[in-house]
Amino acid sequence: MDKEFIKIENLSVIFEDGTVAADNVNISINEKEFLVLVGPSGCGKSTILRSVVGLQNINSGKIYIDNKDITHLSPRDRDIAMIFQSYALYPHMTVRENLSIPLKLKKTPKEDIINKINEISEMLSINKLLDRYPRALSGGQKQRVAMGRALIRKPRVFLMDEPLSNLDAQLRVEMRSQISILQKKLGVTTIYVTHDQVEAMTMGDRVAIINDGKLVQIDKPSNLYNKPINTFVASFIGSPKINFFDINHIIKFNNDTDNKLNDYFKNYNKNDLLLGVRPEDLTTEEKINSLMIEINPILIEDLGFSKDIIFTLSEIENDNNFIARLSSESQIESNNKIKLFFPINKLVVFNKNTNERINLNG
Ligand code: ATP
Repeated sequence: MDKEFIKIENLSVIFEDGTVAADNVNISINEKEFLVLVGPSGCGKSTILRSVVGLQNINSGKIYIDNKDITHLSPRDRDIAMIFQSYALYPHMTVRENLSIPLKLKKTPKEDIINKINEISEMLSINKLLDRYPRALSGGQKQRVAMGRALIRKPRVFLMDEPLSNLDAQLRVEMRSQISILQKKLGVTTIYVTHDQVEAMTMGDRVAIINDGKLVQIDKPSNLYNKPINTFVASFIGSPKINFFDINHIIKFNNDTDNKLNDYFKNYNKNDLLLGVRPEDLTTEEKINSLMIEINPILIEDLGFSKDIIFTLSEIENDNNFIARLSSESQIESNNKIKLFFPINKLVVFNKNTNERINLNG
């Protein structure tokens, strides 16, 4: 049974100018869990994190760690380590000295400090850099030192606010898995903030999607992908973005599909439905229980491992662009209409009026 370790209860933060940065947020995080907060810029992720660490005046709500109400404790009494976007290493100190600071503050005996520095620097592969100054480190190395300094005193909670955003794309991917591996190894309950949905999906045990200061959905990555609560989550998760088709205008029925659709959506008014189709679920071959659309490819992006086809739909007057991710072998030409298929059971269906997902299986 998972044990709840951090609890954010009815948290609201309203700034003086009236901006609601956190709007009655409730999140429960289990012991040793890696929880990611993700959402568009300005949605309130950092505000939630700052509230947990104690750097934010909050208007209402409570924060608990291990069942203890810490809402009014000062940051230093919360036993939380936090890493920011800027690494905030002391420039006039070597890596070794930077790492030793949290332990010196805790008046750790010298012998222990040496052992702990050896242990953490080994774990983070920075053991050869201990006598260097921060200016002689690459971005990724600085990032690892900052993590080492945060983790060396074994905090009960580890918070990270966009720690990889200053790194180049390749290093980001590398550090992503390193952080995940380290977090599992140390078993420190972690909250990680990012605006990058791929980072969120690959790193989080669970992911909390925030929009406009509100928690929209919190779940395992696969559930967010397969069962998004609404069109916002569906659009936010997945790359390239999900397509939304309109049933009456778009689907070209053959005799059988008409029956299939009537059967599939028998309890619904078809005009109220929005059909979400992921670009990776579209194919050029018809399979059992597939639906069909006719598309007009306008741009073909060959990625080597796949081809992304940007297309419009012939039947509709407006020129919305959609996208299909097809196999790299597909022979597609721009402005040459073709038919694409997708399995009916891969549809993610929404109510057009509420934007909420419809659970067709009851
Ligand atoms: P980003 O991904 O861009 O860092 P975020 O999701 O972390 O964004 P926050 O930094 O938590 O967002 O900000 C939430 C909202 O609160 C934003 O609209 C921001 O402009 C606003 N905000 C932040 N600080 C203040 C402040 N001191 N006064 C007024 N509004 C503020």
